[in-house]
Amino acid sequence: MSLTIGVTGGIGSGKSTVARAFAAHGIDWIDADDVAREIVAPGEPALAEITDHFGHGVLTVEGHLDRRALRGIVFADDAERQWLESVTHPRIRERLEAHLARMAATDAPYHLLVSPLLFESGQHRLVDRCLVIDIPEPLQISRTARRDGVDDAQARAILATQMSRKERLARADDVIDNSGDAAALADQVARLDRHYRASGGAT
Ligand code: ADP
Repeated sequence: MSLTIGVTGGIGSGKSTVARAFAAHGIDWIDADDVAREIVAPGEPALAEITDHFGHGVLTVEGHLDRRALRGIVFADDAERQWLESVTHPRIRERLEAHLARMAATDAPYHLLVSPLLFESGQHRLVDRCLVIDIPEPLQISRTARRDGVDDAQARAILATQMSRKERLARADDVIDNSGDAAALADQVARLDRHYRASGGAT
């Protein structure tokens, strides 16, 4: 059995960068955000349920889910948000579990579930260990602003909606400090890779 490592952190903390660094060690990973997009792709039953409920105003002209329009509705209305989550969350979970089962069945010592909402969504229950990517907030804001082309105030507003750094760290089994440069990050990933390989298959 391959060990499942959950990778999480706030926006711009470096989750995708870390996943690519592990991939350089031959490690497979699945991103919960990709799965969340998959289950509402055209032709998927969840998308049909959503358009039945909210109308075709939540579709783009190409028939894809218009996430911005949908966000506008559900951020302003808790009951609608809960309804949407009741449609999407079980399907995301089911699809994630299928991906994880496939990866767990390989000979690989371990694999990753990368998820910005690992703890908030309960997905930490699907993993053996939680790896938190930690950076100080000012750096998180500047990296997010640069990557997404938003200003610091917008980046700070997104941060404010997420779990606090302290709370996340308190729930971590392992931590990567991503306040350094790319080489410092690569060193920490190499060290964890050795650690996970040594404990892979032990559970
Ligand atoms: P997340 O997936 O957590 O939102 P990313 O991996 O996309 O974060 O990283 C956010 C931004 O910061 C990206 O532009 C990335 O290239 C940059 N970045 C990540 N780690 C480092 C680092 N150690 N040094 C400099 N820039 C970094």
